Amino acid sequence: MRLTFLGAAGEVTGSCYLVETGEIKFLIDCGMFQGGGRGRAGAAQRNRRFGFDPTEIAFVLLSHAHIDHSGLIPRLVALGFRGAVYATRATVDLLGVMLPDSGHLQEKEAEWENRGRFRRGRGRELAPLYTVQQARDSLKQLLPVDYDAEVRPHASVRCRFRDAGHILGSAILEIGVRANGRERHIVFSGDLGQPGHPIVRDPTPIARADLLLVESTYGNRNHRDRAATLEEFAVALEETLERGKGNIVIPAFAVGRTQDILYVMSEFCRSGRVCPPRIYVDSPMALAATRITLDHPELYDRETARLSAWMQDGQGKTEIRFTEDVEDSKRINAIRSGAVILSASGMCEGGRIKYHLKYNLPRRECAVVFVGFQAAGTLGRRIVEGAKTVRIFGETIPVRARVHTIGGLSAHADQMALLGWLGKFHAPPGATWVVHGEPLAAQALSERIVEDLGWSAESVGVARAAQTIEL
Ligand SMILES: [Zn+2]
Repeated sequence: MRLTFLGAAGEVTGSCYLVETGEIKFLIDCGMFQGGGRGRAGAAQRNRRFGFDPTEIAFVLLSHAHIDHSGLIPRLVALGFRGAVYATRATVDLLGVMLPDSGHLQEKEAEWENRGRFRRGRGRELAPLYTVQQARDSLKQLLPVDYDAEVRPHASVRCRFRDAGHILGSAILEIGVRANGRERHIVFSGDLGQPGHPIVRDPTPIARADLLLVESTYGNRNHRDRAATLEEFAVALEETLERGKGNIVIPAFAVGRTQDILYVMSEFCRSGRVCPPRIYVDSPMALAATRITLDHPELYDRETARLSAWMQDGQGKTEIRFTEDVEDSKRINAIRSGAVILSASGMCEGGRIKYHLKYNLPRRECAVVFVGFQAAGTLGRRIVEGAKTVRIFGETIPVRARVHTIGGLSAHADQMALLGWLGKFHAPPGATWVVHGEPLAAQALSERIVEDLGWSAESVGVARAAQTIEL
């Protein structure tokens, strides 16, 4: 039996691992490559070529809904994959919104690319990576499963999805694979959440593995203490809403992060710390993702269940408004004070957030609060780094609003939390491969595993792209 790291090895996107038993081939994740070191063009090319024949894949086991883990499923189906994609119920619900949205982005990107080609006099049209329709068609192959229940995608494979505590529906995969008369136990951590993260439960401890793949996004860093993070956020809200008489703009990813921020602000209201009178969630995708979150109370951690009951009692003093159409969104631009505006995209690169920044950035009494990682080259990064003016829709906009960066709300486990989860294995796995991390982060985590946990150095390695291992 062998496993090949097709993506998310030495980098954080394109999560995809191919398992070949001699009898069957299957995939763990089928994620899209995004931006990153080799640039936009490099990622686009890698997304077009699979390192295998999609018609030969028996099934896919999917850890969670994020596009860098799921985004190539429509392409896999369009190129002839006919099997089932196993994922938790909440993941399937989220993909119903996210994959068609991704198809829409792919269509727009191809249109933009073709306009450029046309200008340069190169005639051949580029087809989108996949279309909205292809994304919708691929949803029919999703097969929802419950956490902890055993599923048998093939006579020689059994699998359980354990809660990974990263986003709604996220899973650690425990896979038993029978080949040549013996069963090997493969564990894939997926993306692991930070213990204590809002809404979702803490990552499930796992006892044993013959082969472990562990993520390392923050393998070389620890997050700021959660209490200090929340206090920083509360102070930012207070200063602007109570003293400053302005608005607060929060760029946030529609899935996961928006719901986390809504949770944190509701908790501030309940505890009497600070209560924004009106919260606008301005993103159709965020609305859909929030509805799905509200549809899955069975997945909440204990604190969220309590908060949700409190809000349903009608005790909430804050009003949360979701805007779907563009006219509603434009009306928010006329509001001068007292509003918290949550909008996508999280890095300010596209979407409605740009309008909200245009109206609020020039005003001293307003604030922009960043709650997620801002990649190099994005509008969000320029604001975080203290630019005095920025360009939005071709206009020069002065930055007079206060800018806050709240670092401790990440949905990924930090180094200490990763080691904490690994430390719960009853015995060191036969082999451990560190995946899903930039080279420095992956290397640092592998060293800590050997030094702190005492796992033998020979059994722990950092996965390289396209590397195949035997087991
Ligand atoms: Zn993720």
